[in-house]
Amino acid sequence: MFKKILCLSLALFSWAAFAADNDADRLITEALKPSPLETNLRRLTDEVGGRVPGTPAFQRAVDWGVAAFKDAGAESVHTEEFTIQQSWAEGATEMTASLYAGTSFPVHAVSVAWAPALAAAKHVPIVDVGDGSAAEFARVGDIAGRLVLVHSKVLANWDDLFAEYARAPAIIALAVQAKAKAIAFTATREHEILYRHTNSFDGEIDALPQLVVAREDAERIARLLASANPVWANLSIPNKIGPAIKTWNVVAEIRGSEKPDEFVVLGAHLDSWELGTGALDNGCNAALVIDALRAIKASGLKPRRSIRFILFSGEEQGMIGSRAYATTHRSELDKAAGVVVFDAGTGKTTAFSTGGRKDLISAAESMLAPLRQFGADKAIATAESGTDHFDFMLEGVPTFVAEQAEANYLENYHATTDTFDKVDFAQLKKHVAEAAELTFALANAADRVGPRLNRAQIDQTLHESHLDQELKDMGMWDEWANGKRGREQ
Ligand SMILES: [Zn+2]
Repeated sequence: MFKKILCLSLALFSWAAFAADNDADRLITEALKPSPLETNLRRLTDEVGGRVPGTPAFQRAVDWGVAAFKDAGAESVHTEEFTIQQSWAEGATEMTASLYAGTSFPVHAVSVAWAPALAAAKHVPIVDVGDGSAAEFARVGDIAGRLVLVHSKVLANWDDLFAEYARAPAIIALAVQAKAKAIAFTATREHEILYRHTNSFDGEIDALPQLVVAREDAERIARLLASANPVWANLSIPNKIGPAIKTWNVVAEIRGSEKPDEFVVLGAHLDSWELGTGALDNGCNAALVIDALRAIKASGLKPRRSIRFILFSGEEQGMIGSRAYATTHRSELDKAAGVVVFDAGTGKTTAFSTGGRKDLISAAESMLAPLRQFGADKAIATAESGTDHFDFMLEGVPTFVAEQAEANYLENYHATTDTFDKVDFAQLKKHVAEAAELTFALANAADRVGPRLNRAQIDQTLHESHLDQELKDMGMWDEWANGKRGREQ
């Protein structure tokens, strides 16, 4: 009898595994079929363009998302409004450098986003503060009223990018304390590529005017300063700053057949910076979310739990849209079975990061097994802060962020060069298959991939994964520590 039961349960188990594999094959086959993915992304990037919340372009992007979700077969589509505390737009930033000898030359520069404006100022002395460390500031001495030039290294990998963000708050604090007029950060890209950087984390206006200066121009100024030539700047940073703005997340749904109140989120941010057209960051993955919905609907499969496909706004200003969603829907989060996010261009997926949770690895890897053909079947217990899973992670919901190869992402990151031509569509199609398969598996599994963690467990995960230090460096830790952000108990 015991043996018979065992055989029967083994048979049931292998039937369930077979059915899941079969579902995965159907989803992957559908996902890889020709679809409107490329046309959708071309419209979003070339026709809508860069999409900063509060601009008409962002409004057009919302219309694009609603229409594309409907065309893909969404059962319902709606928008959810939230507020960003200030609006910001760059004016005609200008900088010229001049020497005693009478030479002057234009400097290619853009304002850092959500940084304050600076009224036109002439003959501002430039001082070189090296890497911007406290020791370098101390060595330079008086910087009151000056433009401080901060060096950087060329962005080569993800760690460099995190370091670029992590070091900025300390540099700004030192510059403010010493009453500098503004900061000029040397661009981390070569070939005079400029990009939109931000050092403000919640849509608030930063403490000091800041520029990103073309690397070649910044290095010329540094050489001139090193050879003892005083160098002055004529500067104008007429940023337009306004009151709070309304913006919208776009949400499409496939309803669950057995547990419609439980849900899985597949998300990517719709907003982008505007120097380029936001193709790699993150238009390609907004289009991916829509194409994953299409693939799931076209497969004819019905998930047990509902799936919410969300295009977030306000990500670039500090994940404000996903934070608003997690906060507004807090009373439902016990029913959130998982959140999947793509936000790293079209480099090959190498793994899915579980926000530091080791307890999810085994169940997640069985869900990811059908993605072995793409090399995307690993789950890793790393944690990161830089995209829209963040507030769900701080609420204890299981999160999965696609870890991707750098490919061409970093050189084009937030830059003038982030355009449609950079997108690797063959790879993006594989990511659509990965997103559809994992999201469906999370929504359809008999048992959830893992429980919602309580505050103490989340806190432990943040420490164990060392995300606590990264958040402290970036000035984001206090909101968690003092209970303003994340799960309350
Ligand atoms: Zn992004």
